[in-house]
Amino acid sequence: MYIKDIFFSYQGEGPWVGYPQIFLRLYGCNIHCAYCDEPDFAHQRETVTPEQVMARLSPLLEKKPHSISVTGGEPLLQVDALKELIPLFPIPAYLETNGTLPRHLESVVDLFTYFSVDYKPGFDREFMEFMSILANRPNVYVKWVLTPDFPIMDLKKLVKTVEAVAKNLPFVIQPVTPFGTIKRGASVAEIDRAFQFAKQCLPDVRVIPQTHKYMGVK
Ligand code: SF4
Repeated sequence: MYIKDIFFSYQGEGPWVGYPQIFLRLYGCNIHCAYCDEPDFAHQRETVTPEQVMARLSPLLEKKPHSISVTGGEPLLQVDALKELIPLFPIPAYLETNGTLPRHLESVVDLFTYFSVDYKPGFDREFMEFMSILANRPNVYVKWVLTPDFPIMDLKKLVKTVEAVAKNLPFVIQPVTPFGTIKRGASVAEIDRAFQFAKQCLPDVRVIPQTHKYMGVK
């Protein structure tokens, strides 16, 4: 399997913010977000076996992590490897995914306990299929990265899509952390507008930035 990093840190996003975790960062993504802080650089790619992953991950269990975050990139690009690896985990697996690969999710969904699912504008059909697979499962939330000047029409579409398939889940608006071509974060007015729009249709809307960036940890 292709990975970039294995490390211990604290979850910086979403409803489980602050939980200690082991992070397994897989290499490669199927989409290209302007704000991505984990772009694909071939020199960062390591090829390892699931057994080698476990050998590196096991000493970090002494730090008493809550779970193992399988993140990326997009982890669901490597489902065959995940099927071998995740049953070896001694603690729960937490999936961080861009929510665009529903067919891939189907084959590994039972291996995970926690699900952090992005809503990516432009992938509404994929998102709806993805969320239908997660229907009635506990420990699922939806995250949307708010960029500056996000079009109001797209905001309306977003809320309708999320309402259709994930109405009662926590919906986290994550104001973008400036990176790459994104030179500024969303303003307070933009955050308020997005919150008010979402709150009209969704019962559990929260605004949570990437807190690990403030802490200065990975
Ligand atoms: S989905 Fe995540 S890893 Fe992929 S390009 Fe977007 S931010 Fe980066």
